Amino acid sequence: MLVLEKNARVGEKIAISGGGRCNFTNVSTTPDCFLSENPDFCRSALARFTPQDFIARVESHGITYHEKTLGQLFCDGSSRQIIEMLRSDCAEAGVELWLPCEIADVARRATFRVLTDRGVVVASSLVLATGGLSIPKLGASDFAYRAARRFGLKIVPPRPALVPLTLPAERLAKLRDLAGVSFPAIVRCNGAEFRESALFTHRGMSGPAILQISSYWRPNDVLSIDVLPGRRAVDVLAARRASSAELTTVLAQHLPRRMAQAWCGLEASSRPVNEHSDRELAAVAARLHDWRLEPSGTEGFAKAEVTAGGTGTTELSSRTMEARKVPGLFVIGEAVDVTGWLGGYNFQWAWSSGWVAGEAV
Ligand SMILES: Cc1cc2nc3c(=O)[nH]c(=O)nc-3n(C[C@H](O)[C@H](O)[C@H](O)COP(=O)(O)OP(=O)(O)OC[C@H]3O[C@@H](n4cnc5c(N)ncnc54)[C@H](O)[C@@H]3O)c2cc1C
Repeated sequence: MLVLEKNARVGEKIAISGGGRCNFTNVSTTPDCFLSENPDFCRSALARFTPQDFIARVESHGITYHEKTLGQLFCDGSSRQIIEMLRSDCAEAGVELWLPCEIADVARRATFRVLTDRGVVVASSLVLATGGLSIPKLGASDFAYRAARRFGLKIVPPRPALVPLTLPAERLAKLRDLAGVSFPAIVRCNGAEFRESALFTHRGMSGPAILQISSYWRPNDVLSIDVLPGRRAVDVLAARRASSAELTTVLAQHLPRRMAQAWCGLEASSRPVNEHSDRELAAVAARLHDWRLEPSGTEGFAKAEVTAGGTGTTELSSRTMEARKVPGLFVIGEAVDVTGWLGGYNFQWAWSSGWVAGEAV
């Protein structure tokens, strides 16, 4: 078994993941936490190599870890421990590593002929594990798509996912002072919703709730943001119905002050609460739970944590990841049209799909 990697080191994304502590899996992993044209495709691999299977490996290597939030497991120490674990498992299995070694092209006659900057490698099976287009400076390339196309496999168009969203200039002008302000939210789009924190940035919005929803967002879609999650805005306002305090002041008890000001500037009037009609307050309450924002775009592959889309699942066996039309060719990880939520799901998909392919090669 031979691994070809164009970077001088393996696992560069693992190294920087989870703020250097690698969120290596999520104990709540279910197929519902993944996007794909075929939402059932990931079921088999996830069932055959589960988060518990990966955790068992982590424990057997003496790596300690903790659950941060929402089932997300992180190393107590460093992401490098996961890389070392994978390297040592490879060494034990007799896997050879060529670093750095860039693959330029691949062809197939009786065997696969992989053209690299170190010459041609001949192999009876080939596993494409070259990831998506996210973060080109870490080695991302379109090789998986080029190779899949060369073998006639359908590609679901790649798009940035888990990515900050940008806002149109005129909207941004009114929110720009909020850059760095975060708030708890429920963000909804295209039938998906996430309750986590959201963050204003210099270009638009980010934070876990926005990154999550970005995977579901398509150009021209409008986000619905509940800025008072878990509270009834009507009750919040009713409790201060007779107050002569400005609406901004009342909202600032529940939202960051600068955000309350900006939000009122955009969506309401900051007159004293007792000068609003019941109808006006009902409209304000409704808007607090359904603040509409139309992003102008995303910050693109340079800032996207993952790439959605990729090799079409109809082309692959869900049990082995082998291409139906090309015996011996396997596609795994982010190169496949399976994209996880934020929170350790994408690594779990890489481990699960890699494991089932490894069993079949
Ligand atoms: C900043 C950041 C943080 C992340 N944090 C997390 C996290 O905490 N938890 C989580 O679950 N997911 C996280 N992810 C997502 C996760 O890293 C990826 O989903 C996962 O690494 C995909 O694994 P992969 O093996 O399919 O692809 P990759 O990890 O991208 O590996 C592909 C490899 O192929 C190599 N390659 C590409 N083209 C060629 C070529 N032509 N020749 C030779 N080699 C080539 C690349 O150099 C790269 O090393 C994060 C991503 C980023 C960008």
